[in-house]
Amino acid sequence: MKFREGEEVVIVRSAYKCGTCGKDHGRYYHKGEIEKVGLRSHGQIIRVDSEEKILLRLKDGREWLVHPDELDILDKTQLAKLRRLLPGIESLPRHPVFEIAEQAPVFIVGEKVYSVGTGKVSKGEYLFEQKKRTGVVRKPLTEVGDLNSLDALTIDRADSEMAKIGEAYVKEAQKEVKLPIAAELRGF
Ligand SMILES: [Zn+2]
Repeated sequence: MKFREGEEVVIVRSAYKCGTCGKDHGRYYHKGEIEKVGLRSHGQIIRVDSEEKILLRLKDGREWLVHPDELDILDKTQLAKLRRLLPGIESLPRHPVFEIAEQAPVFIVGEKVYSVGTGKVSKGEYLFEQKKRTGVVRKPLTEVGDLNSLDALTIDRADSEMAKIGEAYVKEAQKEVKLPIAAELRGF
């Protein structure tokens, strides 16, 4: 679930699809008509019921049930995104890249920002080598942003990778990490 309680959201579409014609017939996924609560209505999430059900409090005070596919986040600034992805970080006194770097290795190659992903390294990918007693562990590097547009890092493309940074990775990798420099990065 990418949405959390308390978040300010906006209704952007109907996720209802008629089984016969595929149109939305002016209604939303859960019961309720678009005429009553229009697109672009703002609200706050007061409860996440399930993967398909979110309860909103609309600006006018009404409660409204929506499908997550019908929502978008209201505050789409980079900082807001990072706060969502790394909820432990309440304020960012520095650029987000440095905050991320405190939790996991971050590499800047060319104008792109990478962090360590999971899974096997594919041909042509940048990789991260970690020397362990049992041998060398290789992990792929995942692009998390574009240094050239610091205010608009393309985090969306790497949402899941960013989320992992705050969880599993930090535990396992921090101990024996020897930070490679860009010259040591190469295709595999
Ligand atoms: Zn129909």
